Amino acid sequence: MPTDDPSAAPLWRPYTQMKHAAPPLEAVRTHGSRIVLADGRALVDGIASWWTAVHGYNHPHIAAAVSEQLGTMPHVMFGGLTHAPAERLARRLAGLLPGDLNHVFFTDSGSVAVEVALKMAVQLWLNRGEAGRTRILAFRGGYHGDTVGAMSVCDPEEGMHRRFGAFLPSQLFSDLPRTEAEAATLDGILARHRTELAAVIVEPLVQGAGGMRMHPPEVLATIARLARRHGLPLIVDEIFTGFGRTGTLFACEQAGIVPDILCLSKALTGGTMALAATIATGEVFSAFWSDDPGAALMHGPTFMANPLACAAADASLDLFAREPRLEQARAIGTRLAEGFEPLRGRPGIADIRTLGAIGVVQFAEPPDLATLKARLVERGVWVRPFGDVVYLTPALTIGRDDLDHLIESVVSVSTGVASHRAI
Ligand code: PLP
Repeated sequence: MPTDDPSAAPLWRPYTQMKHAAPPLEAVRTHGSRIVLADGRALVDGIASWWTAVHGYNHPHIAAAVSEQLGTMPHVMFGGLTHAPAERLARRLAGLLPGDLNHVFFTDSGSVAVEVALKMAVQLWLNRGEAGRTRILAFRGGYHGDTVGAMSVCDPEEGMHRRFGAFLPSQLFSDLPRTEAEAATLDGILARHRTELAAVIVEPLVQGAGGMRMHPPEVLATIARLARRHGLPLIVDEIFTGFGRTGTLFACEQAGIVPDILCLSKALTGGTMALAATIATGEVFSAFWSDDPGAALMHGPTFMANPLACAAADASLDLFAREPRLEQARAIGTRLAEGFEPLRGRPGIADIRTLGAIGVVQFAEPPDLATLKARLVERGVWVRPFGDVVYLTPALTIGRDDLDHLIESVVSVSTGVASHRAI
């Protein structure tokens, strides 16, 4: 039960008003697409643990790779040392990414991968002798993480960090260029602010935590073209979209673009360990390649390139190579689209949309999220609705019965919640 005694809450939970929050469910075990609770119930996970567990939980191939690494070298500092798991993973990632995104900097969370990308962009200009380029152009509706630099490029008005405006670096914001007029506006902003801008940052094809808003590949291609026209590096944040979520291994493939800097995390280790990567092209990297020690990238998290996490990621890439994950993602998308279709046009439902293995139901008005979630838990479903959306991003390996159960539950509970609100 919620309590009036703050001292009764030693564990501070994410995105949670601790005073009023119901106690969280206690998870004791996971397997496949299931989260088993302490009271014995098993929930079908509709969101793959914040979009990480693409192969389902406890995949034996990843578990075996991590166990083996655990017995050899769980961790060693990366300053001045290297190790095979990191070397191998960096080479494999470079081989999978488009163009010459070949220079991999490992960190331990998505937000920090974004921090490193922003820092790389600013320092790239410092190293080239242009000290005034310290601002980033980002898009309204975007979300890039919870650390200071990452917060500064999230949507400044609608985003969860909007109260921090006075504390954050001042960035520039634009609407996504969905129309020619919006592209012309973006072009104008980039032209006017060119000498103070260090980079453009975007979530490709879908703005995730900002509202699960999707855009076609042409919009991404327009952003890449305009960034290039103004000589600005493009940072593509694939932390949500990377590793099959949009139906291709990386979302930027669908627009045929090669960003200058790309961020990965979440599904990188198949949801097993914390790991992230900021990956730069040869051109970006060469701005740091210098006789001047001051031109080096001054960043180095203690746990960067953790060998256990690199081993997990390497094993996850094996699974992408040998199992039909992208076909599975597309098949999930087809099923999500069919399954959500009956909701289209229903009272209280503003939109339904899908992309790859992402299915979204958007309500006309924000529903009572606690009730929505509780009803889904009663049906044995784990999701995390926010704002005015409930969405599914299951493991790409989810079985047909579990997927159908997720879809039917979301459709049924959403219909109830939406029609109640629409009365
Ligand atoms: N970038 C995007 C697109 C994200 O969706 C997220 C997390 O949801 C982040 C960055 C931040 O990642 P992390 O939560 O690992 O810091």
